[in-house]
Amino acid sequence: MSDGVWAAPGRVNLIGEHTDYNDGFVMPFALPHTTVATVSRRNDGVLRLHSADVAGGAVELRLDDLEPGRGPGGWTDYPAGVVWALRDAGHAVGGADINYESTVPTGAGLSSSAALEVVTALALNDLYELGLQRPRMARLCQRAENEYVGAPTGIMDQTASACCTEGHALHLDTRDLAQRQIPFDLAARGLELLVVDTRVKHAHSDGEYGKRRAGCESAAAALGVPALRDIPYEGLLAALDRLADPELRPLARHIVTENHRVERVIALLEAGEVRAIGPVLTEGHASLRDDFRVSCPELDLVVDTALEAGALGARMTGGGFGGSAIVLTDTSQSATVRTCLSEAFASAGHKAPRIFPATPSRGAGRVS
Ligand code: ADP
Ligand code: MG
Repeated sequence: MSDGVWAAPGRVNLIGEHTDYNDGFVMPFALPHTTVATVSRRNDGVLRLHSADVAGGAVELRLDDLEPGRGPGGWTDYPAGVVWALRDAGHAVGGADINYESTVPTGAGLSSSAALEVVTALALNDLYELGLQRPRMARLCQRAENEYVGAPTGIMDQTASACCTEGHALHLDTRDLAQRQIPFDLAARGLELLVVDTRVKHAHSDGEYGKRRAGCESAAAALGVPALRDIPYEGLLAALDRLADPELRPLARHIVTENHRVERVIALLEAGEVRAIGPVLTEGHASLRDDFRVSCPELDLVVDTALEAGALGARMTGGGFGGSAIVLTDTSQSATVRTCLSEAFASAGHKAPRIFPATPSRGAGRVS
């Protein structure tokens, strides 16, 4: 008998890419795919972790030994990092037996890592009655991933998994962490949003991410603003004129237009014009491909093929250089789009993509 079962979802980002480290806007929604944790308290200061999705048995760690840089490496660093971050923030978390089982694809840019962290934080918050609010839990999970696992990620993934609600996308201002739930009901409009996992991850992606980040910081410094978020869309052309370095101009243009696209998508969704976001998504892809240069042939193939097959819009989602794309389509056109994508990947000699419809789903919660 366990003490309880909790679940936390993966996410896709609808629009707002690479804006998070520019103090900008993002708009993820939760997937129906979740990581489920079955948890029991234990009183001997031991954290026992097991995942049905990883070969090998359970790993036992002593709470007193948890320290960034001292973890064994591998998947247990994510939940162990959460326990460390909670305890380091002064929360009285004791031992636990945790068994995980997930339907979130790992390493596909759909945030299986945040699902794993958030489900752990939520379960321990309930079991040890810590009384933490969800945005605070998300922050501690981010700290676990940054400092314990050593991955320099933003706050979007954990916030999405912790705070999304069914039938909505979550507008998050990454500067002040203000949140707004934006209605995003696909089924009512006869629409489907397909996630297309290309199942590739190009090796240089981490280095390129660092270069983009540094480039954005240089552009902001050259323009005399704290972050590119502070350049208003109306001031874009003047700002580009003031950027002497031709390498920085397209980076700045992507960030400023992308924040603007988030605002356009919000306005359309709030007006119930869900179909009309399609071209904005496609524009976002062109900007990521041509200005920010983080796409790759597989992601471009998804977008081009989907549009040719009659989709309303498509774009890469996540950091780029592989991972997943999203495609907005009429439900009646969905089967055709999927077939064309599979055929295009086969004839290009790529691995078969994994394609599934994503319904905006609930965030993390207790299951039983
Ligand atoms: P993403 O978050 O896009 O799926 P990441 O590289 O950030 O990709 O995180 C994937 C890693 O998270 C996996 O390699 C594994 O270490 C860990 N992980 C995620 N889900 C699970 C799970 N259910 N069981 C064990 N480890 C998991
Ligand atoms: Mg991740």
